[in-house]
Amino acid sequence: MSEQPAPRGQLMVVATPIGNLGDLTPRALALLERADAVYCEDTRHSRTLFSAHGISPRQRLLALHEHNEMSASVDIIERVARGELVVLISDAGTPGISDPGAKVVAEVVGAGFDVSTAPGPTAIIGALSVSGLPTDRFVMEGFLGRKAGERAQSYETWRREPRTIVFYESPQRVTTTLVELARVLPERRVAVVRELTKLHEEVLRGTVQDVATQLANREVQGEIVVVLEGARAVAAPAPEVVRRALRESLSRGASVRDAVAEVVEELGVARRETYALAVSLRDDEVR
Ligand code: SAM
Repeated sequence: MSEQPAPRGQLMVVATPIGNLGDLTPRALALLERADAVYCEDTRHSRTLFSAHGISPRQRLLALHEHNEMSASVDIIERVARGELVVLISDAGTPGISDPGAKVVAEVVGAGFDVSTAPGPTAIIGALSVSGLPTDRFVMEGFLGRKAGERAQSYETWRREPRTIVFYESPQRVTTTLVELARVLPERRVAVVRELTKLHEEVLRGTVQDVATQLANREVQGEIVVVLEGARAVAAPAPEVVRRALRESLSRGASVRDAVAEVVEELGVARRETYALAVSLRDDEVR
């Protein structure tokens, strides 16, 4: 396997392919072969992975899903305490990443046992790496909310989010999401990454507006990750510019509160400092 001895009395979080079966690492394969128990999301799905790699399931495949994560944790802790090697996988990619697994890990750690990993594929990192967008800082949003209001809230937050934004999307919803996003952030760059590592792998890159138009004119299938550029840093406006904008607003009869709200929205400046400036301008006028 590697220089490390085969682990015992431990939970191993093992990544599996997100499409191409050849992406199972030799170390992951060896762990799946040696494990005393393999907890997986869907036993039928994992049986396919096992048979593709010539691994015998030998009754070791056990189901772990969001509804039994706590009870499975109790079994896993007992096994680890007995010195067994327990492996945790999900249907695809890295367990615990928008998949079951995080609670089990927290319980095993909480019980004082070792948790380690054989890392490997995850759709987020794969998508980010081919997006062509900045990868130095990013934020992972999982799946967006289904309700229009929840999604609108996410888009509003992203107006000022400087990090690259990554989220999972379904083929049924991706066009609607991009069309909605085009109303808020039309000029941001985006990469819609589809079917990574599979036969029909494709990356659509462009502005949100361009990609929304491309998607609206075609059928979309397969698994998708969206990578969206973060807010570009803009130079802070000079104090004189903020002062002038506030004066204009106050002279039109706006209250201090409304003038501040207007200027903060327009120039993207900090509310606190702008408020203090607006109060001093109003006081000067009164004097
Ligand atoms: N744990 C997984 C991981 O590490 O990538 C993610 C699980 S999440 C339930 C499944 C979602 O990941 C899919 O709906 C899709 O958005 C994305 N995904 C999985 N495989 C993909 C692939 N080959 N290409 C693009 N996106 C993929």
